[in-house]
Amino acid sequence: MASSTRVDLDGNPIKAMTICMIGAGGFIGSHLCEKLLSETSHKILAVDVYNDKIKHLLEPATMDWADRIQFHRINIKHDSRLEGLIKMADLTINLAAICTPADYNTRPLDTIYSNFIDALPVVKYCSENSKRLIHFSTCEVYGKTIGCFLPKDSPLRQDPSYYVLKEDESPCIFGPIDKQRWSYACAKQLIERLVYAEGAENGLEFTIVRPFNWIGPRMDFIPGIDGPSEGVPRVLACFSNNLLRREPLKLVDGGESQRTFIYIKDAIEAVLLMIENPGRANGHIFNVGNPNNEVTVRQLAEMMSKVYSKVSGESELESPTVDVSSKEFYGEGYDDSDKRIPDMTIINKQLGWDPKTSLWDLLESTLTYQHRTYAEAIKQAISKPVAS
Ligand code: NAD
Ligand code: UDP
Repeated sequence: MASSTRVDLDGNPIKAMTICMIGAGGFIGSHLCEKLLSETSHKILAVDVYNDKIKHLLEPATMDWADRIQFHRINIKHDSRLEGLIKMADLTINLAAICTPADYNTRPLDTIYSNFIDALPVVKYCSENSKRLIHFSTCEVYGKTIGCFLPKDSPLRQDPSYYVLKEDESPCIFGPIDKQRWSYACAKQLIERLVYAEGAENGLEFTIVRPFNWIGPRMDFIPGIDGPSEGVPRVLACFSNNLLRREPLKLVDGGESQRTFIYIKDAIEAVLLMIENPGRANGHIFNVGNPNNEVTVRQLAEMMSKVYSKVSGESELESPTVDVSSKEFYGEGYDDSDKRIPDMTIINKQLGWDPKTSLWDLLESTLTYQHRTYAEAIKQAISKPVAS
């Protein structure tokens, strides 16, 4: 229930605002809508081409918050209604993007258009109408770490200054152009630079968010159930799909890459602080991740197998993982970020925010959701005779 006495980090009462949320029907958008509707008085103009993940918030119209969320089915590529919605809002949050690695090397043009060209009018309308913008970028703008270019046995590889990723210090290191994996990172970097330049030259009030592997319920899709059978989602959904089907989890190039995973609900707390504390968030780029939850992809697979066995009551497979080459799994032009540890100094100083949930706990709640949501549908899909 929204409380009327909520205050910001400086003790000032928070005024209700209207938020134009583009990409509100996606994974992060759905959690952000839930949070805003259940804990604040803000209104949401939710823009997306899909609304399946926020259906529970839109229906029935008798919900407490029904008058605080409006869904607009708009493709921002070509819809003149977008500027009107941005003008009506106090704040615009842009989440819309193609953001699954399997697309970066196989659909590089769509990836670049989605992450740069399609985001341009949003930045322009905010700047021209003096509206605040929170733009979602990615930790992938850091690319590879400096440390990965050192010899394998170099002691400097253990030195955090060679791998911890800092918003205001770390360089952006991408691979060559024929490694089209980097089309996404490069497009996101250029739109970050544009947003930043609009701030510097035209006074745009902006915040840039760099998510570090946010995971939780409703992320992506399960191939063949609520997405295409041949589709390749991000790692949480790939591994969930394997577990649900009792198949070994596929480790790309040995599963040696390292990631830090953060629970979506922790990350959404950080976004709410940005929304409600403009004086502290404007003009900043924020890493949002959990440096304490680092694992290799192989360790993630092993942990997910254990957790899934616990929540489903099914035994673990004798061989829970299988190795696969990146060329076989993603096709030509794939490359990878080796390690992603976010520096938390800026977000901690500006917003006093820290992540809370351990990797085991976040996997337990997420895989409980996956099992409840999909196990029965998978069973039915598997038992259906294949059409000849
Ligand atoms: P998502 O794919 O679940 O959500 C994106 C939403 O944008 C989708 O609902 C999609 O339909 C919508 N969209 C895309 N193009 C659109 C268009 N032309 N018009 C209208 N709607 C459109 O992805 P997500 O995980 O929620 O990510 C949201 C943002 O955060 C993206 O910008 C992504 O690059 C960034 N990000 C997320 C993560 C993460 O860990 N989840 C990591 C790095 C960056
Ligand atoms: N990965 C894997 N098996 C899968 C899916 C992904 O080994 O079935 C690896 C992928 O190569 C990458 C990591 O898992 O090293 C994380 O991939 P994700 O798609 O979640 O996105 P990223 O973190 O690379 O943006």
